[in-house]
Amino acid sequence: MKHSALQIFRQAWSSHRKWPRTWSSPEPKPAYDVVIVGGGGHGLATAFYLASEHGIRNVAVLEKGWIGGGNTGRNTTIVRSNYLLDGNEPFYEWSLKLWEGLEQSLNYNVMMSQRGVINLFHSDSQRDGFVRRGNGMLMHGADAKLMDRDELEKVLPYLDFDNARFPVLGGLCQPRGGTARHDAVAWGFARAADQLGVDIIQNCEVTGMRVNNGAIEGLDTTRGFIGAGKVGLAVAGNSSRLASMAGLRLPIESHVLQAFVSESIKPLVDTVVTFGAGHFYISQSDKGGLVFGGDLDGYNSYAQRGNLPTAEHIMESGMAMMPCLGRVRVVRHWGGVMDMTMDGSPIIGLTPVTGLYLNGGWCYGGFKATPGSGWVFAYTLARGEPHRLNAAYRLDRFSTGRIIDEKGVGPQPNLH
Ligand SMILES: Cc1cc2nc3c(=O)[nH]c(=O)nc-3n(C[C@H](O)[C@H](O)[C@H](O)COP(=O)(O)OP(=O)(O)OC[C@H]3O[C@@H](n4cnc5c(N)ncnc54)[C@H](O)[C@@H]3O)c2cc1C
Repeated sequence: MKHSALQIFRQAWSSHRKWPRTWSSPEPKPAYDVVIVGGGGHGLATAFYLASEHGIRNVAVLEKGWIGGGNTGRNTTIVRSNYLLDGNEPFYEWSLKLWEGLEQSLNYNVMMSQRGVINLFHSDSQRDGFVRRGNGMLMHGADAKLMDRDELEKVLPYLDFDNARFPVLGGLCQPRGGTARHDAVAWGFARAADQLGVDIIQNCEVTGMRVNNGAIEGLDTTRGFIGAGKVGLAVAGNSSRLASMAGLRLPIESHVLQAFVSESIKPLVDTVVTFGAGHFYISQSDKGGLVFGGDLDGYNSYAQRGNLPTAEHIMESGMAMMPCLGRVRVVRHWGGVMDMTMDGSPIIGLTPVTGLYLNGGWCYGGFKATPGSGWVFAYTLARGEPHRLNAAYRLDRFSTGRIIDEKGVGPQPNLH
């Protein structure tokens, strides 16, 4: 069924009882041309682009839980392409371009809202760094705007501009950045992939990999063996676990990241704003809740929950930036498992096992990459070689030294 205003009218006429299921739930077939492990945004987007761009439709997406139950449904929904390095910026800008047409491509409302992302700076040296990054973005065809304190006072009047330790001097704005509705992105890709013939199989955990003579043959799952010509891993925080089933040790550590939502309040924050003197980012959902987050918890874990000292630290950063938050109540918080690489950039490409491809290492910035990542991963799976946009994200960059260290902090996953 095609979604349209007329369709909503028709369905309302029958009291919304005739909407079809958004995607079907078939039994797994004995084998597929391509099996994607992980029913998050990246896995589903890959399946969609395999079918829509490359005509490969004998595809299954295996998800151990439910669609979007991983980081895709747990993130703070910020979408942007404000990167500096050559390996990163063209890829993220392409992803943002796909976001801009995604609702039309999927015929699904992912609530893409280009409300602008503003990164605050609090010192002259930080301003220099942001000017450099903004120029890099402009040179790659992205949008960037340096805002001084006077301009910011007009659009973000609630900031503590004269904070004694962290006075706000200005900000780097990407007007095309913003937010999207995270679980709608998973549902939209699932629905569109299903309509093109992809099998989406939930409650199907991959428990082992069969590798023969260095080539993948298929996967052991909780629903039996499934043969595969090619396998694409898109399991985010579980990348190391899955890769180890094929005998690979990845340069990835899993860490916890928390997110928070406040009670609903009247419209206050109409952009995305990030604090430059700590780690804090905030936006406001359409329901009125303030959605915010900060640093990793800082230790390795596969638990999807965080701890109170980090929650306190994040609230403190928020208070330093926006003292008016002090009396707002937090109503929900949760954690996700982040696949942190040694240089802070993702891995999308081939592995030493023939037929096994990896999409992972998203650290805590993979939501904005969802369409771009699916698009280049589908290309890589279909052609057996990376696209120019993900050529730098090869796994062997960690042995050749061609790392993409956007933050310049070295092999410290907890700092990326
Ligand atoms: C709190 C938080 C805030 C974030 N904020 C942002 C943000 O503002 N902007 C941004 O760009 N990014 C953000 N991120 C990062 C972003 O959410 C992730 O990088 C992105 O969603 C990863 O998508 P994915 O599809 O790769 O992973 P996931 O959505 O995690 O999907 C992977 C799936 O694999 C499944 N799986 C795992 N093991 C198996 C197995 N053995 N068999 C079958 N299935 C398996 C999991 O159940 C999961 O559903 C945030 C993350 C968190 C946790």
